[in-house]
Amino acid sequence: MKIEKSRITIQSMTTTKTADTAATVAQIKRLEAVGCDIVRVAVPNMESAEAISSIKENINIPLVADIHFDHRLALRAIERGADKIRINPGNVGNTENVKAIANACKAKGIPIRIGVNSGSLEKKLLEKHGGVTAEAMVESVLGHVKLLNQYDFDDIWLSAKTSDVPLTVRTYRLLRERTDYPLHIGVTEAGTEYSGTIKSAVGIGALLLDGIGDTIRVSLTAEPEREVIAAKVILKALGLRGGIDIISCPTCGRCNIDVREIAEETERRLEGKSLNLTVAVMGCAVNGPGEASRADYGIAGGDGEGIIFAKGKIIKKVPMKNLTEELLRIMEC
Ligand code: SF4
Repeated sequence: MKIEKSRITIQSMTTTKTADTAATVAQIKRLEAVGCDIVRVAVPNMESAEAISSIKENINIPLVADIHFDHRLALRAIERGADKIRINPGNVGNTENVKAIANACKAKGIPIRIGVNSGSLEKKLLEKHGGVTAEAMVESVLGHVKLLNQYDFDDIWLSAKTSDVPLTVRTYRLLRERTDYPLHIGVTEAGTEYSGTIKSAVGIGALLLDGIGDTIRVSLTAEPEREVIAAKVILKALGLRGGIDIISCPTCGRCNIDVREIAEETERRLEGKSLNLTVAVMGCAVNGPGEASRADYGIAGGDGEGIIFAKGKIIKKVPMKNLTEELLRIMEC
């Protein structure tokens, strides 16, 4: 399965034991259902590497095998059909091990992602740069690229994540200046769902606005589906992916409806629909349609009844309790 380079794809990582094929496949299916494009699985032992072939038989998206320390796990994962290998060449032993992985990937035509994290920086680079800096991160990544290039391997993706948002952004900007390889971007160990999503949106958003990034991962301490949903919202907010965009007002003293409940219900009922539309839920009919005039469709609370509007123009007055239902009917959803 080829991993596209032409559009920004969303990655997530399973949290199941990879060797538990049934649980891993079930989680990947849930990820597929919410729009995950590429999934990564941890391969901490031979059992996990062996499981890759049966996992692959039951899923529809490319699978990346995440390997640390033991190059034999990478070789087995490649043999079992992984679509990409993520390694830090600095921690898989001697250069012969790296060469063996490169040759195996080349024979199968699959890429390697060099994944450097701030926690895995070489001691000599930490000393040279006085700690974890963008320069140190980039030097580490490029050193690994050079090593793979020595073995005539060029099908490379790069990542250089840190948990510090400004440092991550500086690192990727520098990396982009110095190399053309596709980049997997994200803020690592971003935290729990709320703060992790905000940190990721700031870091990933800044980079994507600079045109930097080919695949993204929102790294959250939450169910992985939440990572995918957050990533989709980031891409939609930047105009990089279609879909239903729900906008809703924060409400104020003019509000006539329960905006929060209606917005949440509308979002839930439109989830997964393959439509490129902006839908607004606004608290009042006086300002709502005007404030949300860019929305394709919208709901606003009126005096005793609600209104449905399209592109700022009122198209129907509806009893309050039927607002969402009627909107969906008009949208033919
Ligand atoms: Fe207030 Fe109406 Fe604007 Fe919502 S749309 S914030 S209720 S003025």
